[in-house]
Amino acid sequence: MTPSAATVQDQFLQVLSRDEAVARFRAALQSRPVGVETVALDALAGRVLAETIAAPVDTPPFDRSVVDGFAVRAADVAAASEGAPVLLALNDETIACGTAPRLTVAVGTATPIATGGPVPRGADAVVMIEHTTLEADGRLAVGRAVGPGQNIAFAGSDIARGETLLRRGTVVGAREIGMLAAVGAATATVWRKPRVAVISTGDELVAPGQPLRPAAIYDSNGPIVAAALEENGCIAVRFGAVPDVAAALEAAIRQAHAGCDAVILSGGTSKGAGDLTYRIVGALGAPGIVAHGVALKPGKPLCLAVCDGKPVVVLPGFPTSAMFTFHDIVAPVLRILAGLPERAETAVTARVPARIPSDLGRTEFVMVALSDGADGLVAYPVGKGSGAVTAFSQADGFLAIDALSEAMPAGTETTVTLFAPHVAPPDLAVMGSHCTGLDAVVERLAARGITARSLALGSLGGLSALRRGECDVAPIHLLDPATGRYNTPFLTAEMRLVPGWRRMQGIVHRADDPRFAGAATPEAALAAALADPHCLMVNRNTGAGTRVLLDGLLAGRTPPGYWNQPRSHNAVVAAVAQGRADWGVAIAAAARPLGLGFIPLAEEHYDFAVARAPRRPDVLALFEEAVADAGEALRALGFTPAGDGRDRFRAD
Ligand code: AMP
Ligand code: MG
Repeated sequence: MTPSAATVQDQFLQVLSRDEAVARFRAALQSRPVGVETVALDALAGRVLAETIAAPVDTPPFDRSVVDGFAVRAADVAAASEGAPVLLALNDETIACGTAPRLTVAVGTATPIATGGPVPRGADAVVMIEHTTLEADGRLAVGRAVGPGQNIAFAGSDIARGETLLRRGTVVGAREIGMLAAVGAATATVWRKPRVAVISTGDELVAPGQPLRPAAIYDSNGPIVAAALEENGCIAVRFGAVPDVAAALEAAIRQAHAGCDAVILSGGTSKGAGDLTYRIVGALGAPGIVAHGVALKPGKPLCLAVCDGKPVVVLPGFPTSAMFTFHDIVAPVLRILAGLPERAETAVTARVPARIPSDLGRTEFVMVALSDGADGLVAYPVGKGSGAVTAFSQADGFLAIDALSEAMPAGTETTVTLFAPHVAPPDLAVMGSHCTGLDAVVERLAARGITARSLALGSLGGLSALRRGECDVAPIHLLDPATGRYNTPFLTAEMRLVPGWRRMQGIVHRADDPRFAGAATPEAALAAALADPHCLMVNRNTGAGTRVLLDGLLAGRTPPGYWNQPRSHNAVVAAVAQGRADWGVAIAAAARPLGLGFIPLAEEHYDFAVARAPRRPDVLALFEEAVADAGEALRALGFTPAGDGRDRFRAD
């Protein structure tokens, strides 16, 4: 075994705490920006000054008037008032902006001057035009006294030559560009942006825009990391997705390391292919891998290396894990290389509404969506543990649960690291059961400038959030078995129901499955399914309205597949369409696009619980309008608006 291989293996065996991993990574790096460059004024926005800039000239360069009026000697008009104006002779010139004065303002005289005009010799004040009148004989009547220096900006009063204009480390914005322009600077010296290579690894990866092969997935880490690099002052150098082939991987990594200031890989963190990446990275330069395996959840396979002074990082493959580890551990280091300040502005304090369980011994990251609560921001966990890239669309950032905690208790005030520099809780927070029909409503709200965000918490989760005042609308579809009524039995006295739409649920099967060929009723379909011991069902999770329906239909029977209990209609229809199951119960709107056979079972009521005393009555009124307006779009999606055919359904 070669020494480098031994080192790699040693590191692999040792899972470090987050803090220890960060300390080793930073200790191995030179913590300073990668270099400087000179950049023209119009390309400076967002760049970081690498030097303190002193003003090379005075601003303004001469004494200038800050009003439209007349340059005078203050002593001449010291006694002037409305009742007893002082008369002055007008000098024969008018000083516009950009005109150098020719004549001296002698005792008893005044010279017309525009805002920005240079104050002429002899004058020591400017009278505003509003306080003067022109006499018939051509003399100027001054109706108000001015003190010496009044209405004059003296040379260098804004910025004096040699004064510090901007400090090193300042992030340049429009204001700073204006200051530089005002002193005539056409360029500034800034830190060079680190060039960071982005390499996705995996045989299964396909670039967005390309057709998806069977069993392949799109490379989301590449674009995520590239964008996050740009947000943190770096230039992303894209290497695309490289297959798990030693030669290809080694060539890409070596080229990236040679040509860039840092390398960020993702994937290849599982066994097998994983060893490949680590062996290449470990042999790239000294000191090599400093941490491999960090007590993070998700993110344990994170690998940190420094090779010949350049950071080389292997992020976990799952996009959410890649995102957490990048923001928590990699971005702060890259910001140092970019000369950027710490991202203090991207953290907010929020309260967690319910207990979040966590593994002991690992720093656990939880993606959260922020919402306005009664007393500050509330952080709702979203997509926990799913590894779902779509959770990003709902999440504003993430929180971390300490390695020594088993849970974060309900009500904890905690820091949320934001994915974007600014957090904007939505105007309308929708929490509860999700339905594709909701998109038609949200779209109508968006057209009216109202931002809405829908979090899938399930009907009961939505009602709890509404009770705590953490959302505005809770979409629910709950059947009360005792009364046979939907939704109304679940409201508290403080809530009312906004009628939504009806969703036909039915038994779904592949259209060409002969076992269901003759089955016209749900009972007949069930009998057909139960008749074949190989016929596999897909169930739903406990608590789902559809599950109540299914259990009613099954009456205690548990056919094969009963324990497969996904959480959505889409998962049910995907399982049936792909042949992983043969039948299940889902809504028609989900089954239709996949061309599945559908045997109607029962209509489900999807309505909205709202507070009788809402946080924002104006926004809620617009929501109700949007629901009403969405009727046609909803019908097109296969839903029946609650207003349609009221006679056919019990009015809840
Ligand atoms: P790996 O660490 O390569 O075993 O990857 C772990 C999981 O993350 C697998 O499900 C991969 O398909 C997935 N994954 C890896 N790289 C990417 C990527 N660039 N984009 C999206 N998913 C990825
Ligand atoms: Mg892989």
